[in-house]
Amino acid sequence: MSGIPEKIIDFHVHLFPDRLFDAIWEAFLKQYNWHIIHRCYYRECIERLRRNGVSVIVYSNYAHRAGIAEELNRWNEKVLQEYEDLYCFAAYHPGDDHALDMARRLVENPKILGFKLQLLVQNFYPFDERLFGLYDLVMKKNKRILFHTGTGPVGNPYVGLEPFMKVLDRFPDLPATIAHLGAHEYAGFMELVDRHPQLYLDTAFCFLPAPYDGYNLGPGYLEKYKSRILYGSDYPNLITPWEAEIENLLKMNLSPEFYDRIFYDNAAALIRSLTEA
Ligand SMILES: [Zn+2]
Repeated sequence: MSGIPEKIIDFHVHLFPDRLFDAIWEAFLKQYNWHIIHRCYYRECIERLRRNGVSVIVYSNYAHRAGIAEELNRWNEKVLQEYEDLYCFAAYHPGDDHALDMARRLVENPKILGFKLQLLVQNFYPFDERLFGLYDLVMKKNKRILFHTGTGPVGNPYVGLEPFMKVLDRFPDLPATIAHLGAHEYAGFMELVDRHPQLYLDTAFCFLPAPYDGYNLGPGYLEKYKSRILYGSDYPNLITPWEAEIENLLKMNLSPEFYDRIFYDNAAALIRSLTEA
């Protein structure tokens, strides 16, 4: 694997308890005909990423239905204690009775950087009033929300630029990370950064090799927004080899500063800003 950067922080990894991983891999197969090639459980995921040179891992998981976030987050708290340089966006479901109480406990954990909302799977709007308390909490406690809010690989009524902009109308300073560069509405989501200083985007699944579609705006947008882009792999839920997206990014011959920033510097600074007392 020549040319792979020596310093990598991966800001978009998934770790789930084994039986949930099994269910997710089956769902990918059924829904998208995606054959996940790295069917590894969490300890092996961490070990493999570290062998590939990933120093810091930021992972997430999400509650696909009400009633499971609490248990998932107990698991997260345990896993976070097992490893150094491991951070998490925790699970949250606004349909749970004590969701906000749970979130208040979790934000006291410095290794929990915030919460993941997966609107394609969880099926609610980002501007759902039941989330407003969570948004206020993350802003007050210097945490973030990681959103799957783009229309890739498929859409539903809850994802897309339009519903997301409604949240920003109400919470213009929401500290949010938009997964997958907002795919498929790349330009619209990337341009939000001009008006909303707390937004970041991650690269996961945007630079897959053919025949998969991906990021299509050319180098200009990437260079323009390089201070707000974070590398993410989506490991282990990959349908192409781990290094393929990194190699495709390197083939674009972007500036050395671009690569330094997205593979390491932006994430290191962001984590520092979230974890320093
Ligand atoms: Zn993901």
